[in-house]
Amino acid sequence: MAAKIIDGNAISETIRREIADETARIKDKAGRAPGLAVVLVGENPASQVYVRMKGKRSREVGFESLEFKRDAAISEEELLELIDDLNAREDVDGILVQLPLPDHIDEDKVINRIDPEKDVDGFHPVNVGRMMTGQDTFFPCTPFGVQQMLRYSNIDPAGKHVVVVGRSNIVGKPIAAILVQKKEWANATVTVCHSRTPDLPAVTRQADILIAAIGRPEFITADMVSEKAVIIDVGVNRVDDPSAKRGYRLVGDVKYDECAAKVSAISPVPGGVGPMTIAMLLSNTLKAFRKHTGL
Ligand code: NDP
Repeated sequence: MAAKIIDGNAISETIRREIADETARIKDKAGRAPGLAVVLVGENPASQVYVRMKGKRSREVGFESLEFKRDAAISEEELLELIDDLNAREDVDGILVQLPLPDHIDEDKVINRIDPEKDVDGFHPVNVGRMMTGQDTFFPCTPFGVQQMLRYSNIDPAGKHVVVVGRSNIVGKPIAAILVQKKEWANATVTVCHSRTPDLPAVTRQADILIAAIGRPEFITADMVSEKAVIIDVGVNRVDDPSAKRGYRLVGDVKYDECAAKVSAISPVPGGVGPMTIAMLLSNTLKAFRKHTGL
């Protein structure tokens, strides 16, 4: 039987509609819209695209989108001062600093300077600690998106064996931390694999839910998964393709066609986890707004 497609475009659209409805309902009571400040340093083309998209999606759901573009030569001190200003502003509920930053700026210092109550990216160590200990927090957007894809597809991780391949601080580790919690849409038995895991296929074949966050094109092949598996593919990789307009195409970390022919459900790339990330940023910003306004 063909796998069920976990459609990140459709799920993220539903979530964005819910956010827009909720924003419209409480905006007047608050006397202002939720405010998301996005800070972009330098001219990195990929970052410019992400920031543009974040601004567009913010405005679509009724948020105030504030963009702060700074020259790549900005000093660390000046950037920290900008963060201090945004921390103090009443109309700013969420602050996102687009990474990567230029080499002369210490990313940890900048993230640590953001008020944890405005840290809608969920990278501040206070929020990471809250996530680990099951306290109320902002989950990092991509891992949060993975959990919500399962939820909106009615695939409950409770009691399931989730195998995460990848242990980065922004994807692999937080996904494991979220899904292992004694909470709804979690309660999974989680195994985290990485480049030092011996006989990886023997582990991935045990997965009820396999989450691939490796950064290697089409690394997970059909022989590495079981028929019952649900696959969430976080990977976004460019591969050369002379027949494509741009000369490349995007593929995930999973060999899609052969895995889709075998497993029970799978998310595609593009159109899977990618669109969920911005939706969860909006969700975190609305949450911050509600906290700040008490609504
Ligand atoms: P990192 O490079 O930081 O981490 C990759 C992880 O994969 C590491 O833990 C690494 O192990 C592991 N790994 C690499 N090779 C192997 C191997 N041969 N066997 C087992 N494990 C291996 O990547 P990220 O976590 O930042 O990103 C992962 C993917 O997700 C990328 O394709 C990225 O583009 C994508 N991504 C997508 C997002 C979205 O919105 N859809 C957002 C963020 C990322 P080790 O730790 O031992 O080196």
